[in-house]
Order: sequence, then C-alpha cells, then structure tokens
Amino acid sequence: MLGEMQDWPLLTWRLIDHAAQAHGDREIVTATVEGAIHRYTWSDARLRSKQLAAALVALGVEVGDRVGTLAWNTHRHLESWYGIAGMGGVAHTVNPRLFADQIVYIINHAEDRVLLFDISFAKLVAEIAPRLTTVRHFVAMTEPAHMPADAGISNLLCYESLLAAQGTDFQWVMQDERAPAGLCYTSGTTGNPKGVLYSHRANVLHTFGACMADALGLASTSAVLPVVPMYHANAWGIPYAAAAVGAKLVMGGPHFDPGTLHKLIIDEGVTFTAAVPTVWLGMLQFLEKTGQDMGALKTVVIGGSAAPRMMIEAFQNKYGVRVAHAWGMTEMSPLGSVGTPSAHSLQLPAEKQLDLQCKQGRGLFGIDMKITDDAGNSLPRDGESAGHLKVRGPWIVGRYFKGDGGDILDAEGYFDTGDVATIDQWGYIQITDRAKDVIKSGGEWISSIELENAAVAHPEVAEAAVIGVHHPKWDERPLLIVVRKPGASVDKDDILSFLAPRVAKWWLPDDVVFVEGLPHTATGKISKLELRHQFRDYKLPTAA
Ligand code: ADP
Repeated sequence: MLGEMQDWPLLTWRLIDHAAQAHGDREIVTATVEGAIHRYTWSDARLRSKQLAAALVALGVEVGDRVGTLAWNTHRHLESWYGIAGMGGVAHTVNPRLFADQIVYIINHAEDRVLLFDISFAKLVAEIAPRLTTVRHFVAMTEPAHMPADAGISNLLCYESLLAAQGTDFQWVMQDERAPAGLCYTSGTTGNPKGVLYSHRANVLHTFGACMADALGLASTSAVLPVVPMYHANAWGIPYAAAAVGAKLVMGGPHFDPGTLHKLIIDEGVTFTAAVPTVWLGMLQFLEKTGQDMGALKTVVIGGSAAPRMMIEAFQNKYGVRVAHAWGMTEMSPLGSVGTPSAHSLQLPAEKQLDLQCKQGRGLFGIDMKITDDAGNSLPRDGESAGHLKVRGPWIVGRYFKGDGGDILDAEGYFDTGDVATIDQWGYIQITDRAKDVIKSGGEWISSIELENAAVAHPEVAEAAVIGVHHPKWDERPLLIVVRKPGASVDKDDILSFLAPRVAKWWLPDDVVFVEGLPHTATGKISKLELRHQFRDYKLPTAA
C-alpha cells in the first residue's frame, strides 16, 4: 500500500515560482561587474530566467546538456541557475580562480555546450576557447554597450540581446525530480577535479534543511548577502534558500573587499551574511580601522575552514552579531552542520558557550553522521574520540560524475568526508583536521586546526598554518608557520610561551618559522599541499 498524497516532483524552478508568487516584490540587489548597482525583484528574476531558458533552447541546448558559468554573484548568474535547470539543463558553475588548465579540463570533462561568462573573464575565455572541445556558443553576461571589443572569441553572443529576443512565457520543463540540475567540481588537491552532479530533489531538500531555524534560519524579512561565491559549493545553498523564503538577496558581484561589502551591508540593511574566515578577518580589521559598526546585521555564518575563537568573540562582543559556525563540503550540497545555541548550551557560562561555538555545530535533519577508526568501526560520541567523519543523506553525493573515483560509499551507504572529527553527547561535531593534514606523532593524532586557532589568537599573528614534518623518533612533529601582522616583531619564544597554557604539552610545535605570506587554494583556504612541498626537506631542531 502507498500513501495517497500528490506526487509533486521537487524541481528547483518551483523555488523561484514560489518567490515570485508569494514575495514578488522582494528585492534582489547586485553590485554589478559593469559598476552600477542593479535592482529588481523576484518576479523580474523569474521572468528573465524564463527568457534565458527560451534562449538556451533556441541555441540548441537540450534536456540533460551542461551549460557552464564563469561568473560572480550577480542577478544574471542567479537567472542562469534557474533558467538552465528550468529548461532541463545542468548549471555547471566553474571556479574562475582555478588554473586555466584545470578550467579547460573541467569544462571538457563536463562537456559544456554553452559557456556563460562575466566580462571580467573575457581574456581568460579567449585564451582557453581554442581548447574547449564541446562548447558551441560563448555568451558574455552583459548588455551590448559593455560587450568586450575585439575579445578574440568566435561565436561570441551577448546575454542581454539573447534575452531581449525571447518572450517570458517559457514553460518550465517537468522532469523526474532525480534529474540533474547542477554540477560543481571539487578543487582536486589530489589528482583531477571530480564532478558532483546535484539533482533537483537534492537541491530542494537541501533548501528545506538550510532554511530551518537551527540551520541558516532565513525568513522573508531577512536581507541576505552571500559573500561565498556561487561558483563554490552552491554558495552554500543561499540562492535557493532565499527564494524559498522570499528573502531580499544582496550580491557583491566581483567585489570581496571589506569596504564594498560593508557599504552593501549598511546601505541594503543586510541582516544575514556568509563567508569563509579569510573574508571576516579582513572585515574585522576594516571595522577596527574605521570605527564603524555592522548596521542591521544579526547573523554571520562562517564556514569553509575553522572559525578562530577570537573571530567569533569579536563579532559577538564588539559588534553584536551572532556567529553561526557551519561545516560542509561540495559533496554535501554543501551544508552538513550549523552551530546554533541548544537548550543545554544556554545554561552554560559565557566562556563554555564560546567553547561550543568553536565547534562546527550539530548535524541538520537529513544527514546521518558517524565517526569511525581506520578499520571502519564506529567510535563513541563522547567529544573525545576523533575519527573519520562519514555522512549519508538525500543531498550527499552517491558517486562522482561519470563514475570518477569508483565506488565511494561504505557498506552502510556512508560517504567518507575526508575530515577527522569528534562528536559530543549533545551532537556537536568538532572538525579536528582533514585526514590528510592530521599530524601523526608517536601513533597519536595532533590536530593542526586546534594549533592554528591557538596561534592566530596571538595579537601579533595575522595567519598561521601547522604541518607535520618528518621526525626520526616520533614519525611526525608539528611545524608552525606564521605570518606576522604588519609591524609586529613577535618571535618563536613568544609564540611558544603563548601556546603553552593553551594546548597539550606534547602538541607544542617543535619549531616556528616566519614567512611573508601563506599559499592559498582557489577556494581561499591555506594550501597544506603546497606548504608540505615547500617544507619537504625541513629539518626540525629536535630531529638532530
Ligand atoms: P575545497 O576542497 O575546494 O576546499 P569544499 O568547500 O568542498 O572545497 O571543502 C570542504 C572542506 O572544508 C571540508 O571537508 C572541511 O575539511 C573544510 N571545512 C568546511 N567547513 C569547515 C569548518 N567550519 N571548520 C573546519 N573545516 C571546514
């Protein structure tokens, strides 16, 4: 026997239809690539997404075809997500910060038929176009007046001209909810990048999860600025979640500098924003220098890398902005856990509440989690035992695009996130490391993340990274690599005495080196791979 309710395929175009019906006048504001501030509404965005869908069909794009985007967070990029998936295509967001060779690999692997790009990337596109074997049409996402002159790209089309040639009555394609809607490649720190092919169903279920009060907690009264780019892990699902609740959406286009972001937050009454720690580090320095506040901002979501304690403290105590520390990954659509207060945590003294906020929050409904040892045996949820963090659920990857990487699930259907974590009795997870970054000292694990967070709490430290370096007795020992703040003179002894009361004695780094800057990946994280390469022959003073 089956239940007798309606079958209503969970398709992403329903989100923008809903936004237009129930919150049609709610604004979408973009600091555009061309320079001006662009404003329109969810109703306008829906109609233009339909025009784009019709234009893609006219260009010969068929159901199941991939359409690539090389674009910032803009109203046009938003239209492309809904327009492409709404005509049955797959919106393939390409990270423009990758190396040109990786971009070529990804677009060819995805077999993109059309490439939509912001004019900021005209030079890049001209350079790689001859090597893109499947792309038939290149579309500059701008109006005729701003078309890149002499771009050297054949078949170059203008986005606004394409839309102007179409009506707004396109009928969204009704598909199986398991049909693909989006595609995003992991950054491929080891080997070639692998594609995650999101289904409509996964995107819509993730949206329900993301909007819950103990997740992102968005509402129609929210004004949301996703600083996290749409080309990285679905901008944490915000472009879908904002439509589902009818929130005002504010987008920074090509701008990531604290000055521009701060102006948008103040001018547009932003209440909610989300980005990686590096962005917030810059913002806190900006606020300190200019003496400004955060206006109407209530919540900042920090994820992508661990949020340092002092960052959480500064937002909450100095600026009255609540921090929600979140964890997830491209393979998880991406949200896995979000840190919001629990009934239990609110009874705790402030310092203990802050301890909990430094963890990465509790898993959302829709995610099963377990931690295991190397042999795959489950470990207790005692907040102490650290193990491989594995997840399953309707918005978690089942296999990579085209089967790359083979079978990726264990016998119970769990996907290994590659992270090492603890889970406590209240369900809060704490990411202690990526499995490949963990430092194995005498058979025990040292958390590089905890050491880094302790180091950046030093007032003269701008950025810090810890890697494991070969040691003849202990196998590996931690090396701390530090970038000083401008004008600072902190030295090795200062740092070690600062760390001593903060971490276990046997965790103390065997050496501290100072550098001008740290290498970062295309998603703004410290590149441990590159650091391990740079320090591959490093001799620790304790190794003699
Ligand atoms: P990339 O591999 O390009 O960095 P992802 O955004 O998918 O792409 O990275 C996901 C990884 O980022 C996670 O597996 C985890 O290691 C790390 N991560 C994400 N959020 C956090 C967080 N709040 N604290 C610590 N690590 C995090």
